[in-house]
Amino acid sequence: MEYYNSSVSISRRSLIASVAAFPLFSAASARALKIVVAGGHPGDPECGCAGTIARFADLGHDVVLLYLNRGEGYCGGAALDRCAAIRTAEAQDACRILKARAAFASQYDGRAIVDSPHYQEFARLLAAEKPDVVFTQWPVDSHRDHRAVSALTLDAWLASGRKSALYYYEVAGDTSMFTPTDFVDISAVESRRRAACYAHVSQQPDHWYPKQVEITRRHGKQSGFAQAEAFLRHSESPQVALP
Ligand SMILES: [Zn+2]
Repeated sequence: MEYYNSSVSISRRSLIASVAAFPLFSAASARALKIVVAGGHPGDPECGCAGTIARFADLGHDVVLLYLNRGEGYCGGAALDRCAAIRTAEAQDACRILKARAAFASQYDGRAIVDSPHYQEFARLLAAEKPDVVFTQWPVDSHRDHRAVSALTLDAWLASGRKSALYYYEVAGDTSMFTPTDFVDISAVESRRRAACYAHVSQQPDHWYPKQVEITRRHGKQSGFAQAEAFLRHSESPQVALP
């Protein structure tokens, strides 16, 4: 499966120049920013963004992982009625590792609903966080819940008046047609990124984590780092640099 468009490249020099142009995210920044990373299930924000989350947190910013559901639909060999508790605990472990906080919308795994009441619920949750930067899943994806969280986030962002920066991320095995615009060097936080993903024990990370590492290695080659997470910035998003 094609995870990204290899024709797109960005030089390390241009990355550094763009960060210098927007010092909002520098270590010296006085104000802690609020970062919200939305995902269809526990594990999705970690899979796509754990390195970037760790880097934001290490700079002193507040990061919230906003999950659409509690993973009620699958938790390995355990009974389905235990999944929500098991996967909520896994998400909280992952957030501890990343120095982030977990938050949950009220949807059910595998049965995402995108209608007026659910647009309103998600917009309320997102607005309550007063985010400076929002990440969500890229909408061209094989999983309905991923497409749903993408649509819900976009709608909430539009309703907010496009106030925050908005970036899309990818997850191994599900995302397609993803052409990133921005890259974050995650080489120095690889062990925490891995630990956060492996906190999702019930999701058997050996099946998907190595695929995500292949992706970040490829993006590293594009951007001049050992490993990089890559994002697509909404073209109407405020211009802010990532860590
Ligand atoms: Zn998912």
